[in-house]
Amino acid sequence: MRIGGFQKLSLVDYPGKVSCIVFTIGCDFRCPCCYVPQLVLPEKKLKEISINEIFSFLQKNKGLNEAVVITGGEPTLHPDLPEFIRRVKTMGYSVALETNGTNFRMLKNLVEEKLVNYVELDIKNRLDFEKYDLTVGGVLTKELFENVKKSIKLLLKGKVAYEFRTTVMKEFHTVEDIVEIAKAIKGAKVYYLQNVRTDVEVIGKKGFTPIDEETLKKIIKEASNFVKVVKR
Ligand code: SF4
Repeated sequence: MRIGGFQKLSLVDYPGKVSCIVFTIGCDFRCPCCYVPQLVLPEKKLKEISINEIFSFLQKNKGLNEAVVITGGEPTLHPDLPEFIRRVKTMGYSVALETNGTNFRMLKNLVEEKLVNYVELDIKNRLDFEKYDLTVGGVLTKELFENVKKSIKLLLKGKVAYEFRTTVMKEFHTVEDIVEIAKAIKGAKVYYLQNVRTDVEVIGKKGFTPIDEETLKKIIKEASNFVKVVKR
């Protein structure tokens, strides 16, 4: 597994637990609004962090730190992710995984083996191929798209604690788009919306525009007919 970042302390990234965050390198999407280009784009030179360094931290901080959040990039691109998580779990930590849902098979295995305690799935747009493809930078394939849909269905079965979320921006999302996502995840406990950030470097050439308060209120009102929507 290639690790490009490690945050030793977070009080907000794992629900109810003190956690640390592991950032993996590489992603199969190229979302123009992505604010971790250093993890996603191979041309960005990044100093890698060794797995031994992570485990030595986890060993020393048992009891103080309770959970490990694994994000990226896209962590499920790494075939040895399950093995990494198994080791983390053996040490007594809870594990949260943030994913874009493209590796359905690995996600399913992780859930079935009870290796993940919490899954956060990023839904990029309504489940329409063209829209989704635009939002992920024009790299979507039929197979990846099917996998995203299957991953959503898998989480809706409720075998693992989960959340869905979408980063919203004027350039890619209308009120109807978000309502369509809410319909697709009908029955989910909660759906988080976060506005795009404007203060960071992104993959796309230009910045993106957050959705204004008035429109967000409208989105929340309409989408709440299907799922509880929470603004972050
Ligand atoms: S925002 Fe998109 S490109 Fe960036 S890590 Fe997530 S899925 Fe990959």
